[in-house]
Amino acid sequence: MNLERFKREIKTRGKPELSAESYGGLSWPDWYKLARKTRHINYGCYFQPDGTCVRTRERKSNNEMCCCSACYYSLGYLRYIQNDPKVIKRIASLFKEDVGFWRKNKGCILPRKYRSAVCLGYRCTESNCAKHMLGAKGILVAFMDSIRTRGIEKKTIYDIGKSLLKIEIC
Ligand code: SF4
Ligand code: SF4
Repeated sequence: MNLERFKREIKTRGKPELSAESYGGLSWPDWYKLARKTRHINYGCYFQPDGTCVRTRERKSNNEMCCCSACYYSLGYLRYIQNDPKVIKRIASLFKEDVGFWRKNKGCILPRKYRSAVCLGYRCTESNCAKHMLGAKGILVAFMDSIRTRGIEKKTIYDIGKSLLKIEIC
């Protein structure tokens, strides 16, 4: 999507804030590092080569996009976007009418570091990833999820975020 159109979309969908800081007042480099650490989390989706996740298969849903079906309308559930022209341009280039950042047979094409806390914390079935809920991975996904549900104060996001940055997650 071209930049001007994307800027108009920002004002009407999801209404993310173009901000110098990320969640909890964390710097953007810190947030990007935390977001990247989530690559070690198994969310229990068990995607198949045809792109379907476990919930789609179990419920025989026709909705291929599954929990990403509102991506376009919510603008990827983003609450903040780094107020940097290069970042905005990059994110805009990946956003498409109707499907947002989702693509058939690929899933989410938004680089993990730019994804929202909603997308990094959501698991439709916690039991699917229960075995990964212990230790640092469990704390990281619970942290993202608590931002998603707005169940955590700004200062606490900052403090836990800073602590998680010091922990190796693999
Ligand atoms: S979180 Fe649930 S609905 Fe979303 S992709 Fe994973 S299994 Fe599917
Ligand atoms: S994970 Fe990606 S495709 Fe899915 S809703 Fe979030 S930004 Fe959109």
